[in-house]
Amino acid sequence: MSDIIQLLPDHVANQIAAGEVVQRPASVVKELLENAIDAGATQVNLLIKDAGKTLIQVADNGSGMSTTDARLCFERHATSKIKQAEDLFNLNTKGFRGEALASIAAIAHVDLKTKPETAEVGTHIKIHGSELITQEVCVTPTGTIISVKNLFYNIPARRNFLKSNNVEIRHIIDEFQRVALAHPQIGFSLHHNGNELFQLSSSSYRQRIVAVFGGKTNEKLVPVEEDTELVKLSGFVGKPEFAKKSRGEQFFFVNHRFIKSPYLNHAVQAAYEGLLKDKTHPSYFLYLEIDASRIDINIHPTKTEIKFDDEHALYAILRSAIKHSLGQFSVAPVLDFDK
Ligand code: ADP
Ligand code: MG
Repeated sequence: MSDIIQLLPDHVANQIAAGEVVQRPASVVKELLENAIDAGATQVNLLIKDAGKTLIQVADNGSGMSTTDARLCFERHATSKIKQAEDLFNLNTKGFRGEALASIAAIAHVDLKTKPETAEVGTHIKIHGSELITQEVCVTPTGTIISVKNLFYNIPARRNFLKSNNVEIRHIIDEFQRVALAHPQIGFSLHHNGNELFQLSSSSYRQRIVAVFGGKTNEKLVPVEEDTELVKLSGFVGKPEFAKKSRGEQFFFVNHRFIKSPYLNHAVQAAYEGLLKDKTHPSYFLYLEIDASRIDINIHPTKTEIKFDDEHALYAILRSAIKHSLGQFSVAPVLDFDK
């Protein structure tokens, strides 16, 4: 029998990988915002057209890229963030897979302008479906402006599968808010079809939460603070009387990364024992800082789930710290007359 196995060409491999990394426009938004943050930007502007179906643009004032890097960043497994396997256990950046830009460029029209501080002029690159179209010198400010157009133009099934603009922009706003809440010291803006949805200037955590969710949020917040050997916990929980039927504003950030954790959510809920009306959920904005060697972020491609070294201890710390804070603010139990 003759040999039949072949290595897939890069652009095919990239397109397959893209299926994992990019589910919808909001996935692109997340990857681009994270790259801007990893680049040390202090201002990040997001511009969206048609819920990301025609344009997603992120402009940052971060480090920018050299001409060689500007080309290399679209290669698979090309990253400046880790060098060796050990680095995976001590991650301090949002990215590390070196997969996002390669994936995005495989399924969209990408336009990149970038310039490091030290360079006089920048680099302008256009890539369509992994194929380099042009590379030119350009005049552009220090930082990076990356535009992703016509997402899924070469995967009609995916494109047709996209939901209505209302649904897709909601997902984008969710990603934007998560990143903005995780980094209050960075300025962010979001425009959709020419309308300004958010204009957030550098601020404290409390100010950022209020800027994102509106002025009324301020009176609802009870500060939480705890410092142990395992975790440095800070942030806010909502007063019980403001708890809602729907799970809305519930956020965990671990080392400035938004994560989902049903287990830790349970710990929060447990801290409210006896304080909540039936089937209501408190808001919370909790920031955990944990030594990077004690968490594993590498278990999920979109990195919203992570593994903790000592989940049980975290649970206990969270529960007691929140309970303590709620007690300090002398929150009285609610009498549930509805029952
Ligand atoms: P990762 O973030 O996992 O390294 P990406 O594909 O997202 O992979 O990006 C590849 C590389 O391109 C990054 O490691 C970084 O060096 C560079 N890069 C991407 N976006 C930016 C940006 N906005 N500013 C500066 N460098 C960037
Ligand atoms: Mg990245």
